[in-house]
Amino acid sequence: MTPVVEKVLLAEPRGFCAGVEMAIKALTWMTRVFPPPVYCYHQIVHNAAVVAAFEAAGVIFVDDPAAVPYGAPLMLSAHGSAPEVVQVTRRRGAVVVDAVCPLVTKVHHEVRRAAGAGYDILYVGHAGHDEAVGTMAEAPEAVTLVDPEAGLGQFAPSDPERVALLAQTTLGLHEWDGVLQAARERFPGLWTARRSDLCYATTNRQEAVRVLARLTDLVLVVGSANSSNTRALVRAARASGVAARRIDGPGAIDPAWLAGAKVVGVTAGASAPEGAVRRVVEALAPNTVEAVAVAAEEEYFPPPPQLRALLLCLQAAVEGGCGARAPGRPGPLDDDRRWAASEALGLLGAG
Ligand code: SF4
Repeated sequence: MTPVVEKVLLAEPRGFCAGVEMAIKALTWMTRVFPPPVYCYHQIVHNAAVVAAFEAAGVIFVDDPAAVPYGAPLMLSAHGSAPEVVQVTRRRGAVVVDAVCPLVTKVHHEVRRAAGAGYDILYVGHAGHDEAVGTMAEAPEAVTLVDPEAGLGQFAPSDPERVALLAQTTLGLHEWDGVLQAARERFPGLWTARRSDLCYATTNRQEAVRVLARLTDLVLVVGSANSSNTRALVRAARASGVAARRIDGPGAIDPAWLAGAKVVGVTAGASAPEGAVRRVVEALAPNTVEAVAVAAEEEYFPPPPQLRALLLCLQAAVEGGCGARAPGRPGPLDDDRRWAASEALGLLGAG
């Protein structure tokens, strides 16, 4: 018999962040404007269901820019790309739209600025993650990767007075704090971003999961295995003393986890669709569902500039040539703020 869950507490905020919203909507536009295939360098976001929906719509995901045929429409993923990848793809693609999240771009700028000022840079992140690879490629000669679990190790800068500490945006807050403290003790002149590189979505979702941990017997985190912020949510919940599991959807729930779990917390990584959360709650079939809100998010990132230019050109052409658009007449992006990525996925038959 499946154990009875009395109550589900839903974390707020959870799921899609502003960067993921922007990237999903941008790639949806690409599938509407161009006949398939549209190419995308790296998974647009790290979620298996989202990637599968785009593949069904004719998107081909590649990990090698050389796999993109010359002249093919191409999007670069939300995680940010190495400078040489951007250059190569611009030479190969007819239309290249870079859907990098602005908060990742900020860290790319910090790497360039610190390297240009002669700093040795410690970058706290996960080896091989798309965001870490793209960010470190801004100044590979100046950057040393620090695994958040392993710490600073034997790192020896050429000048201990010129050390910078930067980070992947999706780290666990408790892991970042540990490395920051150790680095400040070892390098008193340490330079780091005024507010850490961990983005608002990462910190808000982790704060919410820490509150859930105090109120629940088990926390389920909806998101894919390659999603860094999803895994960080699981670690944050466990570090707060509650059992926690990552699941892609309701099919991954093991009834044995629910034995004795009267109150279950549910949250979702920044790339997990709300539809998956809804299906998980339905599968748990609790007597009551309550929201636990720790922050309201108003962040919005407009579409990438290359996509805005493309759509405005198309609109002008459709309306009879450049300059034909009447001022004040609605354009295709004028409602973008109100258009949700979940609706975009709905157009693809997913969500
Ligand atoms: S998790 Fe943060 S850095 Fe990553 S896409 Fe979302 S807002 Fe941007």
